[in-house]
Order: sequence, then C-alpha cells, then structure tokens
Amino acid sequence: MAATFLVSGEYHRFRAVTDVVVQDHSITLKEGTIVEFDGKLMKLGSSTYHAPTLRHAINVGWLVLEGDDASLPVRKTPGERAKKIASALRNHPQLLVEVLDVFGFAMTCEVPGCLRTDTGLTPSMTAYEWDGQGEDPNRDLWLCPDHADEHTEQMEAQWAEYRAGLL
Ligand SMILES: [Zn+2]
Repeated sequence: MAATFLVSGEYHRFRAVTDVVVQDHSITLKEGTIVEFDGKLMKLGSSTYHAPTLRHAINVGWLVLEGDDASLPVRKTPGERAKKIASALRNHPQLLVEVLDVFGFAMTCEVPGCLRTDTGLTPSMTAYEWDGQGEDPNRDLWLCPDHADEHTEQMEAQWAEYRAGLL
C-alpha cells in the first residue's frame, strides 16, 4: 500500500504484520501492535513520536490498516540467520544477489532509518586502503533509488573536490 493517502492530522490505525523498528526512537513495534499514524506522527499508547520513516513500513507492507487482513508480503527482509549469510557474502555482491533471490529475500536500504526494500547495489566510489581483512570498506552498498542518487551525488562532489586539490 502506498502511504500517499496520509494527511497530516488525520490519524489511521495500523497493525504491524511483522516486527517494525521505529528508527530514531529505538522502539520495536512487535508483530500485531496497533499504532495510530498520520504520515508524520505516531501515537503509541499515551505517547506521540515524530516517526515519518514509518511511511516506508507502509509502502513495503509491514504496516497495514487495522481492518486489513494482509500478512507479510512474499518478499521478506533478511532474518538474523539470513543477515549472517548476507554479511559473509558482502564482498561477493553478485553471489549475494543470487542467494537472496533464491530464498525470496530483499535487502533493506543501508541508510539508517530507511526501511525501503526496493534496493540495488550501488558502487561505493570510495578508495580506502584495505589490507583484505574483514569487511571491504569499498564494497558496493545496498541503497534505495533515492539514497543511491544522493550517495552518487555526494561522492561525485567529493571526487571533484579531491581532483581540484581541495582535500
Ligand atoms: Zn534509502
């Protein structure tokens, strides 16, 4: 469901169909939790939180209108065990794409607070020194289209400054 119908000040009741992490507030809405949300503010119990990132949770189907009997969409985000595998294969992005595809998982965007799962591998464009141990600091990143654009713009600007001798 696209979250575009939400109007500030008009609250709708949503049900979490999976555990949803509310970024910036360190809150996890357990599966089955009901919250009220108007696109910006989330009411949970007697508290109100500024939580615009919940729109992404609605877009990807993790939060549905209370009366909706929808369950989790077929494309899942990695559970803990899948995350371990994903982490082990980080330096082998094409293999990771294949593994995730086989098991029907989608990677969430790596930008903290972004819950989008319509991600793709984005070239990191960094050139950190790396001794081959641990995680490759120049590995490609899983980003949603908006954050991929943002990242590419930022890196291009940094490289332009570097070439101009400003860094
Ligand atoms: Zn993103």
